[in-house]
Amino acid sequence: MVCKLCGQVRKLVKAHIIPRSFYARVSDSQFGTLVLTDVDGEYPKKCYSGLYDDTILCSYCDNNIIGVYDDYAKKIFVDELFNIDPIFFGGEVVGYKTNDIDYIKTKMFFISVLWRASVSSQHHFKGVSLGPFEEIARKMIFTNDPAQKDDFSVIIYKLSDVDYAMFTPYLTKQDGVNFYKVFLPGYCAFVKVDKRKAPESLRYAQITANEPIRIVSKQLIGSRDGRAASKIAQANLGRIKIREPN
Ligand SMILES: [Zn+2]
Repeated sequence: MVCKLCGQVRKLVKAHIIPRSFYARVSDSQFGTLVLTDVDGEYPKKCYSGLYDDTILCSYCDNNIIGVYDDYAKKIFVDELFNIDPIFFGGEVVGYKTNDIDYIKTKMFFISVLWRASVSSQHHFKGVSLGPFEEIARKMIFTNDPAQKDDFSVIIYKLSDVDYAMFTPYLTKQDGVNFYKVFLPGYCAFVKVDKRKAPESLRYAQITANEPIRIVSKQLIGSRDGRAASKIAQANLGRIKIREPN
């Protein structure tokens, strides 16, 4: 079969859309990681090994290109091997900044998750379709090219409350501009899939080459995602309670 990244006819492998290591973070707990989906009629899955697709990548691309991004993202978002300085506003921590996170690898990781979800025929990811941006993303991934700051801009959020639930990526608009939200346990990112620049309120937090990486602090509880997570989890799995804010 044809590998969707390199275009060569090769034997394809079981490629994870979201790396297995992210599920492992909480797989020893009683919960596993909840994968929540907006797809109609789908129930959340307790997921121990992640969702994969064996129709998208050859072993070379999976190990030597995508695998490099995934390994790096595990160091950052699972092992959290970086130093951060809190950013205060009005006496509260509103975010963090760090010089320890690699801009290119981090940006390419999030683009590669979205690209994988877009080319995947796995029904969990049918809400992700990059359209004309799919081929642009493929070239960027294949050549390890993060393009410019305003191309596929990435804004990273650290979730201060929930780290065992994640949604499959979904499309959202911010001031009319299209972003996909990509979830990892404990983190999420906005990835801009639009020719227009991000609204100013988000643009300041885009990760950028040669600058400290900023991470915005965010609570899931109380947000639309938090309410959805809470409802779905309680309705379907019973055991999991997500605190509601006072
Ligand atoms: Zn390939």
